[in-house]
Amino acid sequence: MDKDFSVISASRQNNVRDLPSPRQLIDEVYASDVLTLDDLRSRLSKPVFKSLQATFERGADLDAGIADTVALAMKNWAMERGASHYTHWFQPMTGSTAEKHDSFLTPVGDGKVISTFSGSELIQAEPDASSFPSGGLRATFEARGYTVWDPTSPAFILRHAAGATLCIPAIFASWNGEALDQKTPLLRSSEALNRAVVPALQLFGASAGTRVGSTLGAEQEYFLIDEQFYYQRPDLVMAGRTLFGAKPPRGQELEDHYFGNIPDRVLNFMSDVEAQLYALGIPVKTRHKEVAPGQFELAPVFEDSNVAADHQQLSMQIVQSTARRHGLVALLHEKPFSGMNGSGKHCNWSMSTNAGENLFEPGETPHENLQFLFFCAAAIKAVDDHQDLLRISVASASNDHRLGAQEAPPAIISMFFGSELTEIFQRIESGEGGRGEKKGLLGMGSAVLPNIPRHAGDRNRTSPFAFTGNKFEFRAPGSSQSISLPITVMNLIMADGVAQLTERLRAHLDDGMDLDKAVGEIFREVYTQHKRVLFDGDGYDEAWHREAEFERGLLNLRTSLDAFPHLTSPKNVELFARHGVLNERELEARQEIMFDIYFKTVNIEGELTETIAQTVLLPDTLNYLRDLYASGESRAVKALIAEMEGLTDELYEALQELRQQNAELGGEAAHDKAFHVRDRVLPAMLKVRRVADGLERLVSDERWTLPTYRQMLFVK
Ligand code: ADP
Ligand code: MG
Repeated sequence: MDKDFSVISASRQNNVRDLPSPRQLIDEVYASDVLTLDDLRSRLSKPVFKSLQATFERGADLDAGIADTVALAMKNWAMERGASHYTHWFQPMTGSTAEKHDSFLTPVGDGKVISTFSGSELIQAEPDASSFPSGGLRATFEARGYTVWDPTSPAFILRHAAGATLCIPAIFASWNGEALDQKTPLLRSSEALNRAVVPALQLFGASAGTRVGSTLGAEQEYFLIDEQFYYQRPDLVMAGRTLFGAKPPRGQELEDHYFGNIPDRVLNFMSDVEAQLYALGIPVKTRHKEVAPGQFELAPVFEDSNVAADHQQLSMQIVQSTARRHGLVALLHEKPFSGMNGSGKHCNWSMSTNAGENLFEPGETPHENLQFLFFCAAAIKAVDDHQDLLRISVASASNDHRLGAQEAPPAIISMFFGSELTEIFQRIESGEGGRGEKKGLLGMGSAVLPNIPRHAGDRNRTSPFAFTGNKFEFRAPGSSQSISLPITVMNLIMADGVAQLTERLRAHLDDGMDLDKAVGEIFREVYTQHKRVLFDGDGYDEAWHREAEFERGLLNLRTSLDAFPHLTSPKNVELFARHGVLNERELEARQEIMFDIYFKTVNIEGELTETIAQTVLLPDTLNYLRDLYASGESRAVKALIAEMEGLTDELYEALQELRQQNAELGGEAAHDKAFHVRDRVLPAMLKVRRVADGLERLVSDERWTLPTYRQMLFVK
């Protein structure tokens, strides 16, 4: 058998043994490991439950007097499900989640233990915070950080083979209340959105008690490879992506992978993932093959965006841990294989009232459609005013390999509404009004405004920010990132757009203008001023990149390092502060962390490239050359030796250059080090890779020890 595939063949034999046993019915399993409102209602007295419910639903402060009672109920619920420990589960600025487990057990002498869990333990904990990124917010002399229960996201149980842990979603902040995590600004931005949108809705006649939040559904793309290859690829183990690898003879050219039938081995993995996600109350809905070989997707039904962000972190964690049980490794990196499609995490975002009204759903009544138009105007203004923030929210060293490549949205932020809505917008701008009624249009009940199509929004896969009928799909987020910052930014900029337009609307109404006329006026103004950000064509097209940047004046922040500096621009400092989402110090800290993580990521890759080339690829090459020297003097051998020697010298030279760049730092500040690795280390890595990939195509399969793309990419 070909050496390539004997490994896969062996691993298939291994896997069968660990298959999970069939599960119960979905509706029995669903949310069985989530502490739901129902669970609490049945365990708490009516007054206690009512008080807690106010905290859950309206964000009212938790009544300290009931904390002990609630903690006891939670502990009992968790222990009945086999949990021995609890943890505040939080999201520091590493992009992943953190947990520190404490046991419920307390020794009481004489070899006895009792189980305890107090209200104060439920509400607040103090992990040793000095080792989390703080961007200077928490100097070591004041190294304290607190995690505080976030009651708006339900507690849940995480299981492992030998036990279970009660996880309590929490925020993480420094002693003086500055955010050290991803969740705090997200929660603050939700409040900002509510504060801005409710007054607008009131002008449209919303009932008292209306609250508004955002909804989010995140589609997760990922690659699967056989675990045995993973262990033979130090670049995958340590950097999450291949730093070497020639293009295989067969990649995604045949376009036969997308939506193709899913091999049993992968389906077993997917079913296992889904069973666990169901137990956690994560409404995962869709599974399919993606474009590249070995690439797949998982998508849930949308939820409240704070809960969705927690669920997204859990989904990534469970996809990764479950893959291992199946002898597979899930790669969440944005670009694990060069020359293949990368992976994104499309964030579907909308706004909804507490009565479940989707504010971006064109409505049934003229009134609702005026409102829809008003929010579209706010969205257009928001995206144009804050292209920089949307770009920053998806910026990372790893996503830089994807944005702007041929399959991902470009680094330019533009917006897509589809031809039908765009035509409506243009008619409003030109003042054509309600003439030319068409079938299938929803009446605006207005002589000054045209009707809205019922199912607007055609398809465009190249737009970074597309309206898809009743929500926006932000396609630029990367597959490995936390979705908290993109959500925070979408909430914040929409809050800002709505707040500003609401002021204008109120002024018009106070002047005695009719609602439809006022909305028409505002829409026209906004559209004329901001339509440069709307683009329906091919976002991958070079001509568009030129037009966007040079004719329309849109930002083209090609790499993360072009984007990060904008975070602390006066406009953004003022915006984040005005809506109470992050203060200047918090923003500066985040920016510092972004530069630092960027530097560290590329620095690790640079060192890895050097090490692998020096200690694996060069020896493989020299071994093969030695074989050739012993193979006689035929023309073929001589030609091969000449070609190999040329490339080997090139590899050696490229390595010297990389080694030198790796040894330098470019400065002291995170900012300077980041620019050094972008401008010096990345190009030097690429040079080494190009030569090495050329050698991979020449060296005998027996001698080339790294698994190749053609081996790894076809999980069968
Ligand atoms: P499409 O066919 O456009 O991909 P789907 O209905 O399959 O649309 O939805 C894709 C994703 O968008 C799913 O995760 C879905 O839950 C999410 N989604 C749908 N409606 C909303 C909404 N109102 N708010 C946020 N996300 C939504
Ligand atoms: Mg989609």
